[in-house]
Amino acid sequence: MDDCVFCKIINGDIPSTTIYEDDDIKAFFDISQVTPGHTLVVPKKHVKDIFAYDEDLAERVFKKIPMIARAIKASNPKIIGMNICQNNGEIAYQSVMHSHIHLVPRYSKDDDFSMHWGDN
Ligand code: IMP
Repeated sequence: MDDCVFCKIINGDIPSTTIYEDDDIKAFFDISQVTPGHTLVVPKKHVKDIFAYDEDLAERVFKKIPMIARAIKASNPKIIGMNICQNNGEIAYQSVMHSHIHLVPRYSKDDDFSMHWGDN
């Protein structure tokens, strides 16, 4: 979609720090790092939210989340946990209307980092 920031990132029209990419998804750092390594996993197909996935797309996107989570964790021994979250609809604090999954690494004593979805 022409006016979608994530479609522009997927097309390379907006730069991103990409950590993984294949035919189905692109995983890149969130511009607003809730914690260091905060990553968004985004389907290349423009789907608005979880309600717009068909089974095939859901399988191709969501089955890769553990692999990406492990890769992020392996990148830094200080990562000891991870929040994985997806916001669907404005009421649920979705601000970019192209579906995405947040992977937020957690560190010992990182409570000073904002964990309030929608504060970005
Ligand atoms: P949401 O609030 O769950 O929809 O999350 C949207 C996320 O996209 C927010 O955490 C933003 O910081 C992030 N975001 C918005 N624009 C960009 C961008 O250009 N590059 C990377 N992340 C972005």
